[in-house]
Amino acid sequence: MMGITEPTLLLDTRKCKANIRAMVAKARRNGARLRPHFKTHQSHQIGRWFREEGIDAITVSSLRMASYFAQDGWKDITVAFPVNLPEIDTIKRLAKDITLNLTTLDADTTRRLGEQVESDVHLFIKVDLGNRRTGIPPSDTAAIDAVLAAIDVYPLLHFKGFLSHAGHSYQARSKEEVMAIHTASVAALLPLRARYGARYPNMMLAPGDTPTCSVAEDFSQMDEMRPGNFVFHDLMQCQIWGCEKERIAAVMACPVVAKHADRHEIILYGGGVHFSKDFLELEGLGRSHGELVRLERDGWRSHTPECHLTKLSQEHGTLRVDAETFQRIQIGDVLGILPVHSCMTAHAMRGYLSVEGETIDHMNGERSSIASIRHQ
Ligand code: PLP
Repeated sequence: MMGITEPTLLLDTRKCKANIRAMVAKARRNGARLRPHFKTHQSHQIGRWFREEGIDAITVSSLRMASYFAQDGWKDITVAFPVNLPEIDTIKRLAKDITLNLTTLDADTTRRLGEQVESDVHLFIKVDLGNRRTGIPPSDTAAIDAVLAAIDVYPLLHFKGFLSHAGHSYQARSKEEVMAIHTASVAALLPLRARYGARYPNMMLAPGDTPTCSVAEDFSQMDEMRPGNFVFHDLMQCQIWGCEKERIAAVMACPVVAKHADRHEIILYGGGVHFSKDFLELEGLGRSHGELVRLERDGWRSHTPECHLTKLSQEHGTLRVDAETFQRIQIGDVLGILPVHSCMTAHAMRGYLSVEGETIDHMNGERSSIASIRHQ
């Protein structure tokens, strides 16, 4: 890989597009709409690859991200994050231009929203399927009824359905465990349709997390699927449900800056500010912040599953390798490292380089901010 001088997030566009096509096909087989979460890539360019596959509705995690994608022509956007009232002006502005779907979980916030909006706003109620992050437990119908009653007071507010994220699937360590979470999630969501479907015939059930959406086949009773990470996948998905490493579409390229023969450690230019500090605990290996791969002209190959980044400081990464790999690698080489959590790494890196040598935008990237300054 030529021309790389500092930590760079490489994208294998072929793998990325294959990941997109596979999830689009799964949603189609189920008659469900894929509303992919764009917080993973945060890129206009990558978003357009979804559009080429017929996707016309997306998910984001902030109003700022919603604005970024509305600028690129997306007209139906769900903000899968609780309504943030201090951003009411952005809500009002966006709701004028696009179909804006927000996420609520309490009646008071819903009323305060209803009192201020000036255009139609669609609301998902966030249900908590066991992740205990946020949301109403589906069994708490009193709380759900209170939110629905608040929505119904305001003619500009429209109930869209129930949104869930089974984030506890990230604790699973086998396909079977992921399947058990999927089965339990579906079983928890379906009674909501039984209870509210007659009153709201168009209401949707909208789950979404990459482990269940990758492993489970049956989403036929769901209306939307909302995974995000699958666009790149990462080592975490490999650990959770056995995602093949060949499907990981993003890899960090990091220059070697030092070698320590006494401990078979190689120091990379690439630390927490580049990778994020997420790690995996691997049996027999301990902590891993990423796995060494061999960079080649058209991408990378996974050759050394036992060589891992064991430590990250702000901008140093410590790669522990075997004796033969240690001899082979020289200061000044550029090494590939599969990321543990690609969403966080992409967020930290704020831009991509495709293996064909093309730069790809990111919402927070220098290139996109320069471009938006030029367009003002
Ligand atoms: N929906 C919501 C509400 C989320 O918070 C997330 C991710 O955190 C997703 C969907 C996408 O899930 P994943 O990152 O597993 O693809």
